[in-house]
Amino acid sequence: MNDLQRTGSRRTRKVPKEGIVYLVGAGPGDPGLITVRGLECLRRCDVVVHDHLAHPSLLGEVPPAAERIYVGKEAGRHTLKQSEINRLLIARARAGHRVVRLKGGDPLIFGRGGEEAEALAAAGVKFEIIPGVTAALGAAACTGMPLTHRDAASSVTFVTGHEDPTQAESDIPWKLLGDAGGTLVFFMGVGRLEALCERLIASGRAPRTPAAVVEWATLPRQRTVTGTVGTIARRAREASIRPPALLIVGEVVRLRRRLAWFESRPLFGRRIVVTRSRQQASDLRRRLEELGAEAIEFPTIRLLPPRSEKRMREAARHLGRYDWVVFTSANAVERFVAVVLEENRGDIRAFGRARIAAIGPATREAVERCHLAVALQPERYVAEEVVAAMERAGELDGARVLVPRAEQAREVLPEGLRQAGARVDVVSVYRTVADKPANTREIIEDLLAGSIAMVTFTSSSTAANFVRAVGAKRIKRIAEKTRFASIGPITSQTLRKYGLQPAVEARDYTIDGLVAAISRSFGRRRQGKLGSQGK
Ligand code: SAH
Repeated sequence: MNDLQRTGSRRTRKVPKEGIVYLVGAGPGDPGLITVRGLECLRRCDVVVHDHLAHPSLLGEVPPAAERIYVGKEAGRHTLKQSEINRLLIARARAGHRVVRLKGGDPLIFGRGGEEAEALAAAGVKFEIIPGVTAALGAAACTGMPLTHRDAASSVTFVTGHEDPTQAESDIPWKLLGDAGGTLVFFMGVGRLEALCERLIASGRAPRTPAAVVEWATLPRQRTVTGTVGTIARRAREASIRPPALLIVGEVVRLRRRLAWFESRPLFGRRIVVTRSRQQASDLRRRLEELGAEAIEFPTIRLLPPRSEKRMREAARHLGRYDWVVFTSANAVERFVAVVLEENRGDIRAFGRARIAAIGPATREAVERCHLAVALQPERYVAEEVVAAMERAGELDGARVLVPRAEQAREVLPEGLRQAGARVDVVSVYRTVADKPANTREIIEDLLAGSIAMVTFTSSSTAANFVRAVGAKRIKRIAEKTRFASIGPITSQTLRKYGLQPAVEARDYTIDGLVAAISRSFGRRRQGKLGSQGK
């Protein structure tokens, strides 16, 4: 063994790692509202300790191998006692782990984060505190109630509503809160709204002071009820407001009339199902969410490699033979280009002189992401138009054309190309199979209950597999309770074949076109809706 090797082995000897606990604020609900630093910690942790307010998609950021520990803490249903949580954090850190203690909102606002930090300090465990957007700030932003305002409030007070306001001895300075003016935000008080408001009035706040209750702030299911200190408890009860919710008291509540941007978005509060495969769903989901919808993934199809890869690989090795490569989906681009690189030592020049046609803008973008140029893309995004455009370009007679595509695609494109005199090789680069998603039962229940506003279809196979997944015998009843959106005429045709009438069809056969059509359709229905809820 030479010196170098010996040094190497000394370096790799295991030194016990020093553990650490990060007390991370998860933000008020919307997973986009965690801090960059908080997200970094989540992505590198060995253990995450979370409770019921942590958004599932934040837990999705944790490395797959990390340990996830749920410690509960829904009102009245504590899974672990606080002292047990403290002991757990200390034990995992002492074992050398990077532990994230993920807490709703900000860890130090009514979350007992202070107590957890004290326990860590007393045990000599290293820790860091990463602040979060507290629910009060999230609610303020997403209801349009600035907590301070030059004309309406020069102070804001966060108050716990956890304490019984009828008890004589109180840690809350009621007299001050009654007199102070400014904005008050009560946490954890929905169960005691009556008593809280009575106590405020008894302490000097005018009963006509504006007040609001905000449930599930910052999420698509956010609900806001407004009134006055005198009426808000009754109104919240009538609306069946449940935790988590905040009570906000003060003149700033009035500003909401002009500032309620979040709830005025065209799809706010609408639950919309996305039936695309999991790999493709995120783009559509994000856009629907940006417009305020709660997008629910229901991936009725799954992409798999083709049953035989032989022809695809052969074509990839002999790309130089072709004049044209025609792509009809972004999936085909991604799958085929990956194979081309595998078969040609990672050299994209294997495409050689072959020109590339793309059926539409999403396919085009996928090609361009691979640093390849698109020579042709038709104005309307259907197979017939690709043939017509290529014919117009006068390039087809005797041309050699490769069509890498899904195993079960329509024959229109290759047939059209052949009729125009081209020699066409069709190779399967992926296949779609029906999937039965884990949330199938829930989705069927919600569809039948009428709580889903729309189901979106981005291809004929999503339509066919949706019908299969929810059951052909239920489809009629479902069709009475929800509406269907289709990406274009071919998908609409398939829907009609199953007796489903699309309420919305994209003018532009793209995800953007589909989202625009959905948004237009709800925009028409929404006119004047906010007024009734948002006074
Ligand atoms: N540390 C948290 C608060 C924990 S106490 C923070 O900074 O936000 C839990 C209380 O916070 C709930 O009872 C409720 O009053 C409030 N809360 C948390 N998330 C909320 C949300 N999305 N909408 C409304 N209130 C919320």
